[in-house]
Amino acid sequence: MISIQGVVTGSYIIAIVLFILALGGLSNQETARRGNWYGIIGMAIALVATVIGFVKPETYPILLAALVIGASIGLFAAHRIQMTQMPELVAVLHSLVGIAAVAVGYANFMGHGGQLSGIELTIHDIETYIGVLIGAVTFSGSVIAFGKLSGRIGGTPLTLPGRHWLNLGLLIAVFWFGYQFVLGSAAGAGMLPLLIMTAIALLFGIHMVMAIGGADMPVVVSMLNSYSGWAAAAVGFMLGNDLLIVTGALVGSSGAILSYIMCRAMNRKFLSVIAGGFGTGGGTSAAASGEQEGEIEAIDSQETADLLNNAKEVMIIPGYGMAVAQAQHVVNEITKVLRGKGINVRFGIHPVAGRMPGHMNVLLAEAKVPYDIVYELDEINDDFPNIDVSVVIGANDIVNPSAQTDLDGPIGGMPVLECWKGETTIVLKRSMATGYAGVQNPLFFKDNTRMLFGDAKDTLDAVFKAL
Ligand code: NDP
Repeated sequence: MISIQGVVTGSYIIAIVLFILALGGLSNQETARRGNWYGIIGMAIALVATVIGFVKPETYPILLAALVIGASIGLFAAHRIQMTQMPELVAVLHSLVGIAAVAVGYANFMGHGGQLSGIELTIHDIETYIGVLIGAVTFSGSVIAFGKLSGRIGGTPLTLPGRHWLNLGLLIAVFWFGYQFVLGSAAGAGMLPLLIMTAIALLFGIHMVMAIGGADMPVVVSMLNSYSGWAAAAVGFMLGNDLLIVTGALVGSSGAILSYIMCRAMNRKFLSVIAGGFGTGGGTSAAASGEQEGEIEAIDSQETADLLNNAKEVMIIPGYGMAVAQAQHVVNEITKVLRGKGINVRFGIHPVAGRMPGHMNVLLAEAKVPYDIVYELDEINDDFPNIDVSVVIGANDIVNPSAQTDLDGPIGGMPVLECWKGETTIVLKRSMATGYAGVQNPLFFKDNTRMLFGDAKDTLDAVFKAL
């Protein structure tokens, strides 16, 4: 006879395999949709198996009520949220994983500690302490990241005097209270050190993300993604749930790899980003201070269409403004028309374009732009001298030449798409406002740059008509 435990273990193994296949699928645009389905099916199997295996039937009504409330909020939020608000939603979801880990940690400490003793109790306490620690840092860090991504908190890094010493002090205090917690737990005196550590961890999460400048936020987003995975893994240890441990470790390690990729894309050292205030060496150039530096030349939609019609090689560079304007569909229409005329149209994607990793790829895939004309920065950057017209759609920091000239500035040293090396660059934006990093862009003042002002969707609709 097959036992319930056997069914649960078997289901967990299937779910884990599906999660790994999901991650594999998500690593490529063409297989991403399939990868998503693997993830959804794996999660459904995991949920059903956990309910059958671990939940007592008398608690089903409570569980059902929680599921209905949670799922309704999730569905409501998913319908309400605009594509441009996705990064904030992701930050909120990370914060929920963090607070769940804290709640499970406290429940675990209060509920089960009494039945254990000796080394088992010590291991249990360490698991609880680490789980609450990671959960609290993830929670408060994600809340601040939400504030920064939604513009409720400014992008300027908070650089407290002696902040590295402050961080070191907090870290030593965490170790000290951890020691007190493990010592006091057997005697029922662990709650106070646990509470103090939670407060320190919350403070640390706030300080860590507040100290990071706007331009370095991509690394923070992927790092908090990784933390949320480790928080889930910690919950898995506390609850003795193997599936949660493996799933958390998958999310944690893939988030860590993503952080590494983002750091490499931005030419940053991970530790410098985490230590905060990176790239704020107080660049005093006009570029950093936001002053204008020369004449700009505006262009209209008819002239843009003429330039495109006469080009042989066109590069489209989308940025955050394309997401705001929801211009991806008309971009695809324009691409089809130009390709129909034999013009070679390609897309150049910067790894930190938009407000979340892969943001532009998602939008272009939604609009059904063919994958094989979408290139990454390092695949395409050397081609710009052969480009007749580059169309920069609501991008700013990712095409800012001052990243190469003002090395002390907020984006100093970050690789950028070198569109100014082509014959003509057309920049679509609404005003002369700076990008997310708050740096003025000398590209706009170059001789071979033309500014097409207005909402990107409106101006591209007009260009499409003119074409
Ligand atoms: P930027 O934020 O640098 O620039 C976007 C530009 O779009 C603005 O200058 C704005 O100018 C323009 N814009 C906004 N709305 C519209 C609209 N409706 N129509 C036309 N233009 C519009 O974006 P980039 O993509 O170039 O760079 C991304 C930045 O975000 C980088 O600094 C990156 O570090 C940061 N970041 C990235 C994350 C990621 O994971 N990818 C996460 C967090 C931060 P105007 O107002 O004049 O129209």
